[in-house]
Amino acid sequence: MRKEIEYLKARLKELLPVNIYKVWFSDVKAFVKENILNFVVPNEFAKSWLKENYGNLLQTLAQEMGYRGIDFIVSETPKAEQLILPYNPVELFGRKISPKYTFENFVVGKCNELAFKVCYRLFEEKPKGYFIYLYGNYGLGKTHLTQAVGNGLLAQGFDRVIYFTAQDFMSYLLKYLKAGQIESFKEKIRQACDLFLLDGIHFLAGKEFTQAELSFLIDHLLDQGKTVVFTSLSLPQQLRDIDSSLRSRLNASLLVRLNQPDFETRKRIIRFKAKKSGYKFPSEVVDYLARNLRGDIRQLESAVIGLIARASLLKEPITLELAKELLLEISSERTETQEIEIILEGVCKFFGVSREEVLSTSRKKNLVLARQALIYLLKNFAQKSLKEISAFVKKEHSTVIYHLKTFERRLQENRAFKMQIDFLLKELSQELPLRTEASHTEEELFEEGLEVK
Ligand code: ADP
Ligand code: MG
Repeated sequence: MRKEIEYLKARLKELLPVNIYKVWFSDVKAFVKENILNFVVPNEFAKSWLKENYGNLLQTLAQEMGYRGIDFIVSETPKAEQLILPYNPVELFGRKISPKYTFENFVVGKCNELAFKVCYRLFEEKPKGYFIYLYGNYGLGKTHLTQAVGNGLLAQGFDRVIYFTAQDFMSYLLKYLKAGQIESFKEKIRQACDLFLLDGIHFLAGKEFTQAELSFLIDHLLDQGKTVVFTSLSLPQQLRDIDSSLRSRLNASLLVRLNQPDFETRKRIIRFKAKKSGYKFPSEVVDYLARNLRGDIRQLESAVIGLIARASLLKEPITLELAKELLLEISSERTETQEIEIILEGVCKFFGVSREEVLSTSRKKNLVLARQALIYLLKNFAQKSLKEISAFVKKEHSTVIYHLKTFERRLQENRAFKMQIDFLLKELSQELPLRTEASHTEEELFEEGLEVK
């Protein structure tokens, strides 16, 4: 069997990136029974993880070696540390992790490189006292990355991981509270983990009790030198209804942002997702999708899946035509937030400022101008109502109207400036192809029930 294992390892080494090989297969154990190649794995989790990610590859290699198929056997002599903390797949407390979220399945680009590196490091080094706050918009990979850390560690037999969505955390907390066992809840977490992952902390807005308990828990975990990772939609200071003591703790963490994917990364993600489903899209299709879908990664993913589904349903090849049809549908479903995000992104790039600055209250001249441009574009280009705009920029209606007026006056008075803004509009209209330009009237402003200053 040793020779066979050596052969298998050599083949895996050839086929996989070196770090992946090292982590997962350098000490692979297997035996043959009834012409089936059985892989010995440390726990149930590793089993489903390997099956999901390397099942096909291992199957092919087994056949190449003349075996009928493969299977995974959970080792009956677990390592010493597993004896102390047996992994029990039935017990889901803090463990709702999906095996599809792995580092291998994560496409790294400029937009998420730092977040990836930080998370990969957590996995490689094993937890040792980090406090990380991963933030960014919907669908940019926060859940994927945090679960990848958990997945990686669990599959290696490192069991001291707890992953909760903020919702689950809260419902568990309240359940234990109701049973009069809140201490045992906290104790359970403190005892069972070296790595505590909490996904979607913005959900805790206004949940004062949970926030307070969480603050205590963080203190305790960090005191004990454990690693804590939170994800969130926005920076701690931008979170709504979060108690100041929790906020100040969050602010002490390493803040890592996930950004919208750039064009090149979008292309890579599309190709990657297509390949995962066994397809290779023509490059014009990849280009077209990447150019027109500028939202989050979830959207890219569903476009790829949608296109494949459509093609196989119609028994047609994947063509530009088909992609265009699909996009027409997707664009009409495009959510309001994505539209606003695209405009915000465009304005930030154009004025060379950050989104935090634009949405801040700073009165710096270039920031005020960028803010005015944002308001103007939201109104005239995306046809948002004043109510929506003032909610988004967090300004009074009257202030929004004042900004609109000032900006329009500037456009009238300064031709060069108007040309620049027209250019920005043109760029945006390529990203939001279905939007037609429309300008607002004073009547419209009145219809909103507001006075024009
Ligand atoms: P978030 O938690 O930030 O809202 P998710 O982690 O749920 O986003 O990601 C949304 C979807 O996009 C998931 O299916 C995820 O696998 C996929 N995804 C996100 N980022 C990437 C990436 N860099 N490479 C591949 N897939 C990604
Ligand atoms: Mg998420």
